[in-house]
Amino acid sequence: MRTTFEYQRADSPTNAVDLVAALGDDGRYVAGGTDLYLDWKNGRRLGTVVDISHLRELDYIEPGEGVIRIGALTSLRTLEHLATTDNVRASLAALARVMCTPQTRTLGTVGGNLANSSAAADLPPLLAALGATVKTVGPGGERMIAAEDVAAGAKRSTLAGAELITEVAIPVDSAVATSVHRATRTSLDIALVISAASLTLDGNGQVTGARIFLGSVGPRPIRATGAEALLVGKSLEELTAELLQQSGALAAAASTPIDDVRGSAAYRQHTTAVLTARALSDAVGQLREGKWAA
Ligand SMILES: Cc1cc2nc3c(=O)[nH]c(=O)nc-3n(C[C@H](O)[C@H](O)[C@H](O)COP(=O)(O)OP(=O)(O)OC[C@H]3O[C@@H](n4cnc5c(N)ncnc54)[C@H](O)[C@@H]3O)c2cc1C
Repeated sequence: MRTTFEYQRADSPTNAVDLVAALGDDGRYVAGGTDLYLDWKNGRRLGTVVDISHLRELDYIEPGEGVIRIGALTSLRTLEHLATTDNVRASLAALARVMCTPQTRTLGTVGGNLANSSAAADLPPLLAALGATVKTVGPGGERMIAAEDVAAGAKRSTLAGAELITEVAIPVDSAVATSVHRATRTSLDIALVISAASLTLDGNGQVTGARIFLGSVGPRPIRATGAEALLVGKSLEELTAELLQQSGALAAAASTPIDDVRGSAAYRQHTTAVLTARALSDAVGQLREGKWAA
């Protein structure tokens, strides 16, 4: 049954934090409302929502020196239309295009996707593979959190009380290639499996870094460290299809999927191996082409 809730409108990020802090357990932020109001329709008691959706100072994309700063209120639709000039923008745009529906992408925000901490959220695995840092402000001041550490579990974040996500900072490096693949039952469904991979190449053509993160196959993003270790130290020539498949298999071994109405755990595990190998193959292709080389 739906219950009524109170509504407050914040004037600024600081005012939003003050309002939610004063409300204690009874207060929560609402940005696009695409997750929160769905929970409310499904019976969740909301108490008081503090609306931040109109705070334009949190809606920006700012290119800096070796970093892109994305305001928390940036919509998924804005990501979808990013110019694909580097691996960060290209991978974010490719992912945003296949998330949700056009209507939901118009309302849904980057901060909301992270804070909601759904096990099937699409952005966290990619942001983690990109090495992104999430900036928050709360009653105690500012804090920086690695993107992979925002979710504590399914629909549980590590954000404390009135902590507000304000920005995501993503390093941009022409030596890095990134790709993300996801599987869904229908094009409108949330993801069954997400696999995001970044590879870093040094001047001698050797892989010096690999970041592989999985989504929707565990309560929070999973880092596939065994799959990464297989790749680091290899030359581009050594990154054969067989090796990428072995890395995919190690990623699948790190996944902890469940059976649910959308798919079985066995299917999800198999798909993790396939999608990880595909994401890695894309990244290797970008590196071979010198796609992002300065
Ligand atoms: C039809 C439909 C399809 C969808 N498909 C997908 C999909 O394919 N992939 C996917 O990942 N998601 C999907 N979603 C989920 C949702 O659209 C996204 O997670 C969206 O990015 C949430 O952003 P929002 O601004 O609407 O969050 P809200 O609903 O406003 O908030 C969600 C939660 O985050 C908190 N919050 C919001 N902003 C902040 C902030 N800045 N700081 C701290 N806490 C904050 C709120 O208090 C709330 O608990 C779908 C939703 C719908 C309705």
